[in-house]
Amino acid sequence: MSESLLTVAYIAASALFILSLGGLSNQETARRGNLYGIIGMVIALLATAAGAGVSGGGYAVLAAAIVPGAIIGAVLAARVAMTSMPELVAVLHSFVGLAAVLVGIASYLGPTSLSGTELTIHQIEIYVGVFVGAVTFTGSVIAFGKLRGSISGKPFIMPARHMVNLAMVLGSCYLGYDFVAAGHGAAHPGLMPLLIMTGIACVLGVHMVMAIGGADMPVVVSMLNSYSGWAASAAGFMLSNDLLIITGALVGSSGAILSYIMCAAMNRSFISVILGGFGTDGGAPAAGGAKTPQGTVTSVEVDEVAERVKDATSIIIIPGYGMAVAQAQHSLSEVVKILRGKKKDVRFAIHPVAGRLPGHMNVLLAEANVPYDIVLEMDEINDDFPGTDLVLVIGANDIVNPSALDDPSSPIAGMPVLECWKSGNTIVMKRSMGTGYAGVDNPLFFKDNSDMWFGDAKKNIDALLSKLRG
Ligand code: NDP
Repeated sequence: MSESLLTVAYIAASALFILSLGGLSNQETARRGNLYGIIGMVIALLATAAGAGVSGGGYAVLAAAIVPGAIIGAVLAARVAMTSMPELVAVLHSFVGLAAVLVGIASYLGPTSLSGTELTIHQIEIYVGVFVGAVTFTGSVIAFGKLRGSISGKPFIMPARHMVNLAMVLGSCYLGYDFVAAGHGAAHPGLMPLLIMTGIACVLGVHMVMAIGGADMPVVVSMLNSYSGWAASAAGFMLSNDLLIITGALVGSSGAILSYIMCAAMNRSFISVILGGFGTDGGAPAAGGAKTPQGTVTSVEVDEVAERVKDATSIIIIPGYGMAVAQAQHSLSEVVKILRGKKKDVRFAIHPVAGRLPGHMNVLLAEANVPYDIVLEMDEINDDFPGTDLVLVIGANDIVNPSALDDPSSPIAGMPVLECWKSGNTIVMKRSMGTGYAGVDNPLFFKDNSDMWFGDAKKNIDALLSKLRG
């Protein structure tokens, strides 16, 4: 393929990646966004394979890497449960980090025609790419272990850990100076500082993520997503590949924005997440000094719930992690169809961190064919609770906890929540009085206008469905 055709293909792929990100920002266009991404990646792969960099036996090597990789990836992605998605993403980031390390070292070992300032810049690209790649690689492996439960979710706190991290960063800077000063001769004089720094960066990745509690791991995965993007971008500079630079920058910046959004929605500062030390074993932070909720709990059964649903004209449904666990979305979608058929105003309220990954609830509701226009974000619907007759909370807990707003001692104080207690009546579906992810008691369950409907969300919704059909 000629150089100019390759450039055109790369520009087309870059444009498709940008359109893909744009599409993914809205649930109505998300499928199209995904499709753009797939087409962009196919173009990128074909153009790279047809480019001047691959010839003869290179095709066999490419095929030997791509074909098994594609098969393993497809099988893994098809089998993974939605709740395990962050684990899979963490593994994939570790591959990007490792690739950046290998590309960087290979780039240094290979010949170069550069000299003077250009050579210095090239060496800095290699050094930074390997550093970021190594931190991403080991950090992602630890994040995977913590999410999977094979490594304790408890933050591992070493004495003077910030000083240890700082010493590792300063040591890497010093070695970087050594590496650049050594140059790029045939004897590879800078290899030793490069390899020592790689070892230090690997330890830094492990140490940084080990200090972060399981509860913050999804934010860490999103942050590592950002790092993996920058590592890929650095690899693009080393290989003089414009597409890799652009794609890496897109992943890097969107990952950073996502981390910021997740932190804001959980009321955690980004810096406090990175500095770690928050959270307990099992992924939930300690309940701290939160007040114990006062009042009595009233529970209802399916007959009562069916009556209230029939009487209500406006209903808001708040899904949470429990709906995902119970896989209640399909039965729920049937219930919603019946209620809308009876001209009731039924809408969904989605908290930005409902479930265990961004967009978790939106994906489940889309899978159950719930119309997009009745699925609203928290900011769009939070003011509507006072005029609403009935709220059905399905397996949600932290995202409807009033103590986030009125108890400054609560570990989730300041987190924006869905203010369902302002509606006429709230029915909470869950199996027990147990706490949610944050490990905090929920005063909502004790309010006069709230009732508990205990049991598995799928079984309860199925029972409601047969009552409504009957
Ligand atoms: P929570 O984890 O707060 O609560 C879920 C509730 O679901 C539990 O209290 C549980 O109660 C109930 N439940 C579990 N299984 C079932 C079942 N089969 N049937 C009925 N109920 C069930 O979830 P939320 O969605 O309210 O909040 C999400 C939490 O996750 C927030 O704290 C958020 O910060 C955190 N988080 C979210 C991320 C994201 O990106 N979305 C990332 C990281 C963390 P019981 O056991 O009594 O049934």
